[in-house]
Amino acid sequence: MPYLDHNATSTLRPQARAAMARACEIHGNPSSVHRSGRAARALVEDARDHVALLVNANPANVTFTSGGTEANALAVWGAVYGSAESGTPVERLYASAIEHDSILGTMMEISTRVAGVRTAKIPATPDGVVDLDTLHDLLRESGGRTLVAVMAANNETGVVQPIARVSKLVRKHGGLLLVDAVQACGKIATDFRALDADYLTISAHKLGGPQGVGALVVKEDAPFAAQIHGGGQERSRRAGTENVVGIAGFGGAAKAVGDDDVSRLEMLRNVFESGLRNCFPAAIVFGQNSQRTANTSNFALPGIAAETALIALDLDGVMVSSGAACSSGKVKPSHVLKAMGVSDDLARFALRMSLGWDSSGFDVDATLASLEKLGTRISARKAA
Ligand code: PLP
Repeated sequence: MPYLDHNATSTLRPQARAAMARACEIHGNPSSVHRSGRAARALVEDARDHVALLVNANPANVTFTSGGTEANALAVWGAVYGSAESGTPVERLYASAIEHDSILGTMMEISTRVAGVRTAKIPATPDGVVDLDTLHDLLRESGGRTLVAVMAANNETGVVQPIARVSKLVRKHGGLLLVDAVQACGKIATDFRALDADYLTISAHKLGGPQGVGALVVKEDAPFAAQIHGGGQERSRRAGTENVVGIAGFGGAAKAVGDDDVSRLEMLRNVFESGLRNCFPAAIVFGQNSQRTANTSNFALPGIAAETALIALDLDGVMVSSGAACSSGKVKPSHVLKAMGVSDDLARFALRMSLGWDSSGFDVDATLASLEKLGTRISARKAA
């Protein structure tokens, strides 16, 4: 079945599956000192080494979490409380308007619960890139220390953000930088040291590992206050018995990511987009003028509602996503497209197709054929 929804969750890599199968044979708690405990600990530390290598970080700075959402929440709360403890409190929290809801939701929570922290969204340009001029203006305003959150690549459009320039600006003003690299890792160079970030987050299931496991990387001298207390696991940054099987799978996937041929994905994405334009001359590809991750295409076929297309594609066995967020049965326009100035009317037509490590030309051809069939049916209905 053509699966083109890798930005939602990627398919499990054989290396991750094998590592998880091996981990299932070990019953020890990594905190136990006996041999089974030590075997479980060895799996966790081996995975930590692979994850650290993937993002060029010191393994000691890698904390395993239950995924990208938790990693983002721990980073923001950890920075806000940690900076207060260290005597240089964060008084301003700025996140790009196109961040994942785990960042935006946490920022909103902080604005209502933590006195003295001013929050703001940094707008995006129509091309889906964070507006650096506004960020600069915000940083120049007087106030205490600032935490800035800008993702490395957007989950809906794939648009790559200018992190090197963001980090230069943040450093110049003595701020802290959080980079959500959940959708970037494995698709573009994600080097924690080179990015000069204080916090970086990733998620296993976006790169061919299992769901429910992720990692937060915290720079040595960055403020961080633990939010989950207990048995002192993860150097007391995030207590709780480790998800050994999930972490082992994460390590297996992290090790395999380096072998991906990203240019192959870009070629497939280009084939898809030129096929799309051939069938639908009015098709709009969001973020097409910006640098994008090679695997993502977010497009609108004006006149074909996203839900109609999703159902028609699904009936043909093709799996993609709508560009709208669907929660509690209500489909609302994507906040990312909205931030890019896309009207609600146009956003209703937005679809996202995202390729992954096992995608093939067959997947692309099947998607195009299904869309073409749908387009022909809709045109015939309109003509009748
Ligand atoms: N950040 C980004 C950019 C994402 O795309 C996602 C998931 O879609 C997350 C964070 C959350 O990750 P997880 O699903 O592991 O909680």
